[in-house]
Amino acid sequence: MSSKEAVIIKVSGPLVVADNMESAKMYEVVRVGKEKLVGEVIRLVGTTAFIQVYEETAGVGPGEPVELTGKTLSVELGPGLLESIYDGVQRPLAVLEEKSGHFLARGIDAEGLDQTKKWEFVPTQSVKDSVKAGDTLGTVQETTLIQHRIMVPADVVGTAKVKSIESGHFKVSDTVAVLEDENGKTHEVAMRHYWPIRVSRKMNNKLIPNEPLRTGCRSTDMFFPLVKGGAACIPGPFGSGKTVTQQTVAKYCDAQVIIYIGCGERGNEMTEVLNEFPHLTDPNSGEPLMKRTVMIANTSNMPVAAREASVYTGITIAEYYRDMGYHVALMADSTSRWAEAMREMSGRLEEMPGEEGYPAYLGSRTAEFYERAGMVDCLGSEGRQGSLTVIGAVSPPGGDLSEPVSQNTLRVTKTYWGLDSALSYQRHFPAINWLKSYSLYVPNIDKFMKDNVSEDYWNIREQAMGLLQEESKLQEIVRLVGPDALSIREKLVLLTSKAIREDYLYQDSFDPEDAYTVPMKQFEMLKTIVTLYTEGMKLVDREEFDFSKVETLPVIQKIARIKELKADDQDGFEAVRRDITKEIAAL
Ligand code: ADP
Repeated sequence: MSSKEAVIIKVSGPLVVADNMESAKMYEVVRVGKEKLVGEVIRLVGTTAFIQVYEETAGVGPGEPVELTGKTLSVELGPGLLESIYDGVQRPLAVLEEKSGHFLARGIDAEGLDQTKKWEFVPTQSVKDSVKAGDTLGTVQETTLIQHRIMVPADVVGTAKVKSIESGHFKVSDTVAVLEDENGKTHEVAMRHYWPIRVSRKMNNKLIPNEPLRTGCRSTDMFFPLVKGGAACIPGPFGSGKTVTQQTVAKYCDAQVIIYIGCGERGNEMTEVLNEFPHLTDPNSGEPLMKRTVMIANTSNMPVAAREASVYTGITIAEYYRDMGYHVALMADSTSRWAEAMREMSGRLEEMPGEEGYPAYLGSRTAEFYERAGMVDCLGSEGRQGSLTVIGAVSPPGGDLSEPVSQNTLRVTKTYWGLDSALSYQRHFPAINWLKSYSLYVPNIDKFMKDNVSEDYWNIREQAMGLLQEESKLQEIVRLVGPDALSIREKLVLLTSKAIREDYLYQDSFDPEDAYTVPMKQFEMLKTIVTLYTEGMKLVDREEFDFSKVETLPVIQKIARIKELKADDQDGFEAVRRDITKEIAAL
């Protein structure tokens, strides 16, 4: 230990440099200055430490002290996470506001979990039972929607014996079980524990994802599917619908737990999310969506460094619920703000800049983040499986995807929902560009969709996509020489594609009836529209045929209202298909 006190020698925005720091460790949490601001050591050179500070550093200056805490930047994991809204370093916003009012005071200590609340712990093991790291010791009904598992800590070696286990009401820090591991080490297990945010949580194995993450969005589920345990990127310019898309997915997708990380660029943007999210209703249970949600919010009055940490805080909490065997979906909106925080810190550290001033490690950090997604065989001997799906929005300046954040994200995400400002100007929502978007997960869910929806699922999808692609080429011709130059088949392509766009792809997230469509109904809707093309093909050899007769068939109106049919109204869909066949045959 140095006899000299750790002391600040330089302050540069969120970066503080301190000397006499030889006893500090990398990623150790320190308290900076007289006001004891929360910081993290991000680089050590000899006795000098570079500290990323998670609070506003104005007024802090050289000569002020730095205190070591001996802890790495960690999250507190346990019952009470759900329904919480945190800042980037897991301080509950409600507690911060209570202590300091709307403008955040500095140096506030706030635990992630309520330390006084008592939870009912129901043991699932008994004294003398043998357990392994990751096994369930007991459960806590955390909210009406989610049962929390208290698991054997990951650092328990080999098979451990349960020495004692309690049932009843406890605070998160109370010991509920005592274990002795293979090395004879005693572990006092509480309902909460700490985990360093920059280290992924342990698991047995990663599995190949083979189940879709259903969102109810017809465009993405059918054409650009995501899987449970997959990673998706939503790039889009301002106003194209990133936030609405993320929120709609959060609300309707079939993940059980939602982690929402908001990094708003303008203050009011995050405020909107903060105002709206707590009022969303879970469509399945009718309960507030927050009962299965944790929010991490970076409002504009929070310093840039907290954004850098927030994505790790969020994903560590997400992994924790995955470990309990839940399907978890994490939304990060927008990761460009995270990357900008990284760029700012890197600049202040005077690191060699890479492309567009971003640090050279932007690519590896992005990959490390998205690689924490996955379908996993959870730690322990219980054969539990859980998944973590990561959906990151990216806001490329000017919508130009060649910029580094988009490029690095596209490299590591297999689903790409490209939002398009031209579509949002036309009020075509969701503004997901059907020609540019893609999903590389189709082979993963091939069997699932055939088994659960229809053997014909992929054929219908292929035909519809083919039509949309051909439509875009034909529109070019129409622009140049007008519609008269088109053949009957080409006119049929345009008519069917228009129906796919307007009657299938267009979906209003704010209309409770329309916002969610089950897979079977998606399939029936699309199959019916594609029938217009396949039946219409019977007309292509007619000479001198007036195509407007097809355009004005009564069934075209029925197709336009096809979304109003009930999901289980198989006969209704078939009736429309029969009408298509009949009316075309009568021409
Ligand atoms: P971004 O986050 O990309 O800046 P938003 O998500 O805030 O954009 O969307 C901008 C506006 O577009 C919303 O306020 C809403 O009016 C409209 N919008 C976006 N997506 C949809 C949708 N799926 N359904 C209906 N309206 C939408």
